Amino acid sequence: MTKEDLWQAVLAQIQLTISPANFSTWFKNTCVLTLKDGQVIISVPNSFAKEWLEQKYNKIIFKILRSLDVEIKEVKYAAGEQKLKVFRKEPIVLEGDDQLGFPELKINKETNLNPRYTFENFIVGPFNELPQAAAWAVAESPGYVYNPLFVYGGVGLGKTHLLQSIGNEVLKKSPNKKVKYLSSEKFTSEMVAAIKNHSMEILKSKYRTIDVLIIDDVQFLAGKEKTQEEFFHTFNHLYEKNKQIVISSDRPPKAIPALTERLRSRFEGGMIADIGYPDFETRVAILKQKSQERKIELSEEILTFIATKIQRNIRELEGALNRLLVHYKLGNSFNFEEAKSLLKKTLIAPTKAITPKKIIQAVAEFYDLKDKALSASSRKREIVKPRQVAMFLLREDLKCSFPFIGQKFGGKDHTTAIHSYEKINKNLENDERLKEEIELIRQAISSA
Ligand code: ADP
Ligand code: MG
Repeated sequence: MTKEDLWQAVLAQIQLTISPANFSTWFKNTCVLTLKDGQVIISVPNSFAKEWLEQKYNKIIFKILRSLDVEIKEVKYAAGEQKLKVFRKEPIVLEGDDQLGFPELKINKETNLNPRYTFENFIVGPFNELPQAAAWAVAESPGYVYNPLFVYGGVGLGKTHLLQSIGNEVLKKSPNKKVKYLSSEKFTSEMVAAIKNHSMEILKSKYRTIDVLIIDDVQFLAGKEKTQEEFFHTFNHLYEKNKQIVISSDRPPKAIPALTERLRSRFEGGMIADIGYPDFETRVAILKQKSQERKIELSEEILTFIATKIQRNIRELEGALNRLLVHYKLGNSFNFEEAKSLLKKTLIAPTKAITPKKIIQAVAEFYDLKDKALSASSRKREIVKPRQVAMFLLREDLKCSFPFIGQKFGGKDHTTAIHSYEKINKNLENDERLKEEIELIRQAISSA
């Protein structure tokens, strides 16, 4: 087996075991440099990737290599030219800065950055390790590591915090750099205003002098062709000049409907990193830090209680703390039972009843379709899959009967519903992307 074939075989196996985002992030642009005397040297694009492969994937890489060639005794990684340090700072407590104050007042007009979002107060756990490390690397040498950096994940999981941290960190190191943060909606409305006022040229030249451009929630560009067109040009211009672009979205580029192909492939050209759900330990750590910041002392029991009840949204964790804070500030102390009853409302809200209607709406929205389109008798691929997903969720999450499900989608036969459910169920076994999409839809449903 040549070393090229060997590496291809390894990649093929690894691809089956990790998410597509992780795969493309860590294994794109890797190859076997040398294979000699039982030692394999794998070439990776930079030292950041090197560290990551050594720490996270060495075991599996070695195992697969061994299974293909028993002579192999050792794996090493060699990085390309980029030298990067990845480290994590200890969280610090912000002195005399009331985090519950009026953060809007402090937002910088030029950059749109909120100084409250920093790496120092961003807690890292297994669920956000990758995007955090990538963001840190990007902030260390903007324009030269991963361009663009594309971070995605569900609501309230820290995308905005992370993106803004990059901007704040870059400015801390190089105050003269031009950093601009904006939501994709803001970007769109600037564009629309410029077109109306015939000031497009001014706007364009403004964007082209930026060093770090951060666009949040890029999924809202879906379907806005004119804005995408303009963004594409801005993107290319900045990219060619080695300027950093950072993007966030609630889903991977592939899953954003009505995104022009060339913009999609631009997004996929850099690093794609996803934020998952925080594990229990990290949830407690976040609560601890946030209560320190807010100067409120809470017992371990209360923190554990909140972390057990709220699992999928960091913003909601903070919401629970804020609820307690209000009482605390009024001079009331409370014990565990009292805290529980204070939190009752907050904790019930996220589990609002899921209904078939909500599922159908969420699925339609996710795939950028009208609710009604799902009930049409169309056999178009763009509709068939979303419809199957919706049927699957009605069955899986609501335990609806198959005849009921068929009925819900324009009076289809129950066998169609069964087929849909089984099809998705089967595909879920090995389709990572589908898994991800369904997870994101579920999250949209529960936060609707
Ligand atoms: P998103 O943009 O993904 O919806 P945000 O970045 O707005 O989420 O995060 C929601 C809230 O949770 C913010 O107040 C943010 O500071 C906080 N938060 C999210 N992730 C973390 C983290 N890892 N450490 C500390 N706070 C976090
Ligand atoms: Mg956000």
